[in-house]
Amino acid sequence: MRIRWILIGIAAALAAGWLLAQPQKEAAVSPYKNSKLAVEARVADLLKRMTLEEKVAMLAGSGWMESQPNERLGIPAIKMADGPMGIRSWAGSSAVTNAASAVRITSTAFPAGLAMAATWDPELIAQEGKAIGQEVKALGRDMILGPTVNIARQPLWGRNFEGYGEDPYLAGRLVIGYIKGVQGEGVIPSVKHFAANNQEFERHRIDEKIDERTLQEIYFPAFQAAVQEGGVWSVMSAYNKVNGQYCAESAYLLHDVLQKQWGFKGFVISDWGSTYSTAGTVNAGMDLEMPGGEPMKAWFARPQTQADGNGAGWLTPEKVLPAISAGQISAAAVDDNVSRMLRILFTAGLFDKPHPGGGAVDTPEQKAVARTAATESIVLLKNSGDVLPIAKAVHSLAVIGPNAAVARTGGGGSSLVRPAYAVAPLEGIRERAGNQVQVTYSQGASIPGEDASKDSPAAQAQLRQEAAAAAAKADAAIVVVGNAPSIESESFDRKTLSLPAGQDELIQAVAKANKNTIVVINAGSPVAMDAWIDQAPAVLTMWYGGQEGGHAIAAVLFGDFTPSGKLPVTFPRKLEDTPAFGHYPGDNLHTEYAEGIYVGYRHYDRGNIEPLFPFGHGLSYTKFEYSDLKVTPDKIGPGRRVQVSMTVRNSGARAGAEVVQLYLHQAKSSVDRPPQELKGFRRVMLTAGQSQAVTFTLDPRAMSFYSVAKHAWVAEPSGFDVLVGASSRDIRLRGSFELTAR
Ligand code: BGC
Repeated sequence: MRIRWILIGIAAALAAGWLLAQPQKEAAVSPYKNSKLAVEARVADLLKRMTLEEKVAMLAGSGWMESQPNERLGIPAIKMADGPMGIRSWAGSSAVTNAASAVRITSTAFPAGLAMAATWDPELIAQEGKAIGQEVKALGRDMILGPTVNIARQPLWGRNFEGYGEDPYLAGRLVIGYIKGVQGEGVIPSVKHFAANNQEFERHRIDEKIDERTLQEIYFPAFQAAVQEGGVWSVMSAYNKVNGQYCAESAYLLHDVLQKQWGFKGFVISDWGSTYSTAGTVNAGMDLEMPGGEPMKAWFARPQTQADGNGAGWLTPEKVLPAISAGQISAAAVDDNVSRMLRILFTAGLFDKPHPGGGAVDTPEQKAVARTAATESIVLLKNSGDVLPIAKAVHSLAVIGPNAAVARTGGGGSSLVRPAYAVAPLEGIRERAGNQVQVTYSQGASIPGEDASKDSPAAQAQLRQEAAAAAAKADAAIVVVGNAPSIESESFDRKTLSLPAGQDELIQAVAKANKNTIVVINAGSPVAMDAWIDQAPAVLTMWYGGQEGGHAIAAVLFGDFTPSGKLPVTFPRKLEDTPAFGHYPGDNLHTEYAEGIYVGYRHYDRGNIEPLFPFGHGLSYTKFEYSDLKVTPDKIGPGRRVQVSMTVRNSGARAGAEVVQLYLHQAKSSVDRPPQELKGFRRVMLTAGQSQAVTFTLDPRAMSFYSVAKHAWVAEPSGFDVLVGASSRDIRLRGSFELTAR
């Protein structure tokens, strides 16, 4: 009897132990926790374990920059930070984190997106992406809100500096590197803003009328490349409306194009405060509404937030659950949206290897990438009389200008990074000049609003006079002009193409005082130069070069580095010449993209408009010869490729890089086609006298236009001209091939 009870007792104890151990054991072997299992199997398993309420909770963020975690199932929050040019503090909106008093987190400030585009160097951009991915992890975050790939439709857009310029092919090639670099570190990038966020003016309300072909040929390709070639994990929808629908609730953009046409498997995140409906947004395939939780409520309660036109709080459980009960949202739609987030959480490794933070940022390697990028990005626009590089005979330099002593690393808004240090042009020049060259500094003009005591006409005249006097005494003068975050920023557009008040006059006065005047522009978009371009023998643009901009410009000025940057945007002579002139910023919250596919150089070429500096332009201190163009075969059938080869030779006396550009023109077609379109480029580094063979492959897509009749890319039989050159207006070699019907 006793033995029986003892045995029963032991059995009960074992059973209790087994039961107690059971949840743990079950959890330990839950298939979704098994990192060896295929991602799709993990997603399916986890989804099965989630209640409807738990799924719905994931559709909106939990904070300003965090998605909703689930403790019961161990689903981590995705911790985000703004980019794209480095990591911005995630503590709140840019108004909060850019305030002088804000608690700082520092990270490497890489050059602006437009500067990166001016390098035409996808490999370098991949290194930037890798460095940014490493820093995101080091800071304990999981996701970087970038890159920005919206096309520079018109030069006044406040965010031109963030993007990769005016050409869809160039932007498409560059975005792939960024994405691969970031994702290679297990960090989630978010290519933004889908689609056609091309103006800040009324960005929350503007309705853009854009035809299908224009969307496909101009505004989509960089996103398509990000999805199909970069395999991007996340896309951010844009604030604006496209053809009557907010981007965050556009089933056309998200369902039809992103998911169906391009096969996107990742998740869509809303831009901050860009949602305006519940069922429409969930059903369209907008997976994660940001921001969320209490920070969203506090922000949205501010009158200014709503006056600006933001929308928020539509994907909270209080709104989504009733819409499900009412049959407006299906369980399948919720499952799809949640699966997309889970898929990326698994793919990025965030379940298995969370990012604890506490790592190093701004390491020597990361700084080096920032410096190389800043250096490669500088474009030598003009160099008459070979004023540059600064000759040995120059013993004194007058450095002048409102952007000389201040390091303007980027434009304003959510992309503004606070680096641990930033080198201003004056500092870089002084450091490089050493004791050999005497360097003086005068401000010459001030950025309006930065120092009220300097804004009056009398004060400006005084500054100008001092600068001209300094220039007169020096062997050469360097005038560093341009914009500032107060002038060029997210949230508003520039009012004019002109440089800020006083700068044209400053350049004129200095150029009059010193014939060796070198103008350096530090700005994130084209500026007008007609007032002084003929008086200044040398002009460079250094964009916003990030924290290393000052070292970079010094290296180019003194000839330590041969400039190799090429313009990713056309520099127009005047606003009236620009493609969207007359159709921007629109009337009554409507704007028609009436210029269609004629954006950037396509517009200038069609209209025979002489730009100030054409797309692809950039001078060097050495010379390049182009020869031996071969196009093979010269006749192809449908679906076939063409090989183009040529030789580029450095025929000058110094090492330098050339960006060889290939443009294509279709001779005959059933639709209107631009005179030429970029379809290939290669950055080639050559020592003096060295030559290199360069080859390009033209695939059917390169020959195609987007057919609205067929809703597809179509390559029509015709002759094609192959144009190879050093810029869109400096074609050195011409060849041709024929695409036959069969
Ligand atoms: C910007 C986004 C940014 C987001 C979060 C928005 O205002 O348009 O580019 O990522 O804020 O800061």
